[in-house]
Amino acid sequence: MIDPPNSDHELTLPDGSTRLVPAGTLPRDVVASIGAGLLRAAIAVEVDGQVQDLITPLRRGGTFRVLTEKDPKALDVLRHSAAHLLATAVRRLRPRAKIGFGPAIDEGFYYDFEVEEPFTPDDLAQFEAEMRKAAQEKFPFVRAEVNRAQAEKLFVDDPLKLERLAELGDDEVISVYTDGPFVDLCRGPHVPDTSRIKHFKLMHTASAYWRGDEHRQQLQRIYGTAWFSTAELDAYLHRLEEAKRRDHRTLGKELDLYSVDQRVGAGLILWHPRGAVIRNEIETFERDLILRHGYELVYTPHVMSERLFEISGHLENFRESMFGAMEVEGAAYRPKPMNCPGHICIYQAHQRSYRDLPIRYAEFGTVYRYERSGVLHGMLRVRGFTQDDAHVFCTPEQVDVEVGRLLDLVDEMLRVFGYPYTVELSTRPANAMGSPEVWAAAERALARVLAQRAQAYDIDAGGGAFYGPKLDFKLIDAIGRKWQGPTVQLDFNLPERFGLEYIGADNAPHRPVMLHRVLVGSMERFVGGLIEHYAGAFPLWLAPEQLRVIPITDELREPAASIAARAKAGGLRMSLDDRAQTLNYRIAEAERLKTPYMAIIGKREAVAGTVALREHRLGREQKPQVIPVDELIDRLTREVQTRALPGTLAGAGQRDAAD
Ligand SMILES: [Zn+2]
Ligand SMILES: [Zn+2]
Repeated sequence: MIDPPNSDHELTLPDGSTRLVPAGTLPRDVVASIGAGLLRAAIAVEVDGQVQDLITPLRRGGTFRVLTEKDPKALDVLRHSAAHLLATAVRRLRPRAKIGFGPAIDEGFYYDFEVEEPFTPDDLAQFEAEMRKAAQEKFPFVRAEVNRAQAEKLFVDDPLKLERLAELGDDEVISVYTDGPFVDLCRGPHVPDTSRIKHFKLMHTASAYWRGDEHRQQLQRIYGTAWFSTAELDAYLHRLEEAKRRDHRTLGKELDLYSVDQRVGAGLILWHPRGAVIRNEIETFERDLILRHGYELVYTPHVMSERLFEISGHLENFRESMFGAMEVEGAAYRPKPMNCPGHICIYQAHQRSYRDLPIRYAEFGTVYRYERSGVLHGMLRVRGFTQDDAHVFCTPEQVDVEVGRLLDLVDEMLRVFGYPYTVELSTRPANAMGSPEVWAAAERALARVLAQRAQAYDIDAGGGAFYGPKLDFKLIDAIGRKWQGPTVQLDFNLPERFGLEYIGADNAPHRPVMLHRVLVGSMERFVGGLIEHYAGAFPLWLAPEQLRVIPITDELREPAASIAARAKAGGLRMSLDDRAQTLNYRIAEAERLKTPYMAIIGKREAVAGTVALREHRLGREQKPQVIPVDELIDRLTREVQTRALPGTLAGAGQRDAAD
């Protein structure tokens, strides 16, 4: 809370002790009084939950914490300061460049400049060198409060800054920060001086409209990244390279998995046969799994009367994301944005008794949602996608057990794909519907189930949807990135809107609780994520082609064909490459498609009834293993059945072997 002017501020330090300091005290002085070493390590402070720099006078009391390089919140301060350093360098080399904004962003920063010519990679190298120079000059970030007239004079050649200045209210403090020759209109916070910015790199440039408005001038944006150590910077750059190598859009094309055709429309995925194999395997696996977990499969139409979405509230709350209406015999219809209303109608097709509950409906339901073309991204952000959607209708007393079963299901599912995961519980938001007591009970139920299973979780306070609390699972992929995973959502809203009922043991009607849940979420996004997670080298059970049989010479076509036929009869997805190309050429092509196994047939193998087996995961320099054909088929079949992860026959999928 901001204290009245000129009153003292009470600061509570992390050890619980308190300090009373006069208004306007600089945090720097408070930190110095705690210890000189701490002042040297300090990047900024956090007062009452707000990060500020060491030289901005205190305007509030509350908890007081010093942020050092170890604190993740200090990274934003570093990165924003690096943006100033960039502008400092650009202005030194291009005095006429006009400045826009320079915020910290995820993993880095940018700064926008208005210049006549776009920047080249050479320019970037020069700017980066100049940044290093300015960092070594150890310019302190100096803060000053100015009045409007002074500010207008300072930024007389910077129309973008003047525009920003004009928006500041008369009661707002106008602060400017100077580092060496550069001055910027800015609220801060910044690191103490430019020498703190050591481990950084300029990444690339892009055009950007001033304030994202296409009617305004186009600026040149320079992106960079900054870290507190070389190791972190290197790890980040390595991660970027890995991410690029794994990009599902590139691999999707190279491996012939999917495409987007502008004649079909942006954001609409065409699954090629090799991609469809992967999707079909996942769907088959999941269908078997949920049938064992007591689900019933349903199918609902892709297009539904708009009237239904009026009842569900989608037209009111979700209209922006819906495809437009089409008219049929005077009535309006829309592609469905969600599957829930259809499942509810199936529930309502009969009168339900408490003895019928829980009812669990599942559907691989394709939905359509409008996304701006600018945000579409391969398979990850699309306009049409298939959810592995399910809705559980149960009594309030059954919620605990049902949520517990869902957690089992999530765990069983994610384990198979080799994803560790984290869990987040999102609680009641400000605009929640329903009584606080019902919410509290539901949140307690979710927390209780997590606790019973000793499942660690974070709380996203106020992050629930207006209609109910939820659990979000975040998948962690092979290079440590987090992906949106399963969600389990309690819903008090739709049962109310549709007037859902069941007849209780007391013979009176009651309202059921509804749970929405997805496991993979969007099939498109999940498979896109898997391509990157596995870098295109799928576990055998998902591999579009599991085995390629390659005879060394023409005369060995016959025995090779018979081995291929046996593998096929054994249920393996295989092909025979007996083309008149060199052996190396054919091996290279199978490698390019990341085919997990290659059976090479030479004269010796043909006579002995063996194959020389090459494994994609072992790379180029491997010595093929000679094994009997029967053993080959056995081994691969077992690997498929256990859904083993590449290189881990005893891997996560193996516990399914007993099924
Ligand atoms: Zn700043
Ligand atoms: Zn739903």
